[in-house]
Amino acid sequence: MHIAFIGLGNMGAPMARNLLKAGHTLTVFDLNAAAVASLCSEGAAAADSARKAVAEADFVITMLPAAAHVRSAYLGTDGVLAGVRPGVPLVDSSTIDPATVRELAAAAEAHGNALADAPVSGGTVGAQAGTLTFMVGASEALFAQVRPVLAGMGRNLVHCGGTGTGQVAKICNNLILGISMIGVSEAMALGVKLGIDANVLAGIVNTSTGRCWASDTCNPWPGVIETAPAGRGYSGGFGADLMLKDLGLATDAARSVKQPLFLGALAQQVYQAVSHAGDGQLDFSGVIRQYLSAADKESQQ
Ligand code: NAD
Repeated sequence: MHIAFIGLGNMGAPMARNLLKAGHTLTVFDLNAAAVASLCSEGAAAADSARKAVAEADFVITMLPAAAHVRSAYLGTDGVLAGVRPGVPLVDSSTIDPATVRELAAAAEAHGNALADAPVSGGTVGAQAGTLTFMVGASEALFAQVRPVLAGMGRNLVHCGGTGTGQVAKICNNLILGISMIGVSEAMALGVKLGIDANVLAGIVNTSTGRCWASDTCNPWPGVIETAPAGRGYSGGFGADLMLKDLGLATDAARSVKQPLFLGALAQQVYQAVSHAGDGQLDFSGVIRQYLSAADKESQQ
């Protein structure tokens, strides 16, 4: 199939590479010319606008940072809707708010195209390995149409419901994740301060009712889980600034339906403090540093 892929960043580039490996023909576009050149050296064709990238395409995928970028990539004068043929399915895999998805889907429908939201989990490691989970908001018919292409980039393809529900699933999951990482950090820092060994405490938690992904897979105390970012200075993993963005999406969506979000709003402020402290590029488990004195941080080294 001839696919237009727009947005070749940390996630988009490896996803596009997997589509090439799956035997598809790709035309790619990114504002960053180096990202385009890299994909072209592996067999993709280059376009110098989204409009030109989609002109001959049978399928369109976008993977962009935030709603403003997605909006301009679809609705701009050189955007997707200015160039795509009616009937071609459109998939946006960026993490954005459900309201923007529904607005773009309406604009696409007026042009004769169906748009699915398909945000992902699995991070850059999953993007490279082709093992992403796709949370898809689409009609049954559109899901059936996009599924074979998404299968080239992911392992779990979940139909969440109608347009926008993929984003709903994504932001609700990350709401839990952001809050639970703060809870585990708070408890680990308190326990160590009160005199228990971090490994003993984590061992108890991970065989007790406090167990969760933040405690047993990505534990924020260095060395507790060998493969966790905490053991390598919180590098790699899922950046605190991306978590901050996702909690912003959750609090905005909650406001739109007047749904209380007590802990989500507080968690957003905590990650804002992480970013303010200069740790926004670190893995979000670095939030534990908010609970450590300078001396505590020194003794962790
Ligand atoms: P990124 O910043 O690495 O890449 C985004 C790319 O989009 C960049 O190459 C940029 O030049 C390009 N771009 C921006 N505006 C554009 C436009 N108008 N037209 C064409 N190209 C444009 O971001 P990423 O890490 O690849 O993340 C993409 C999306 O996936 C985000 O919404 C993010 O929240 C989500 N996500 C990221 C991860 C992760 O671990 N990085 C995990 C899950 C979901």
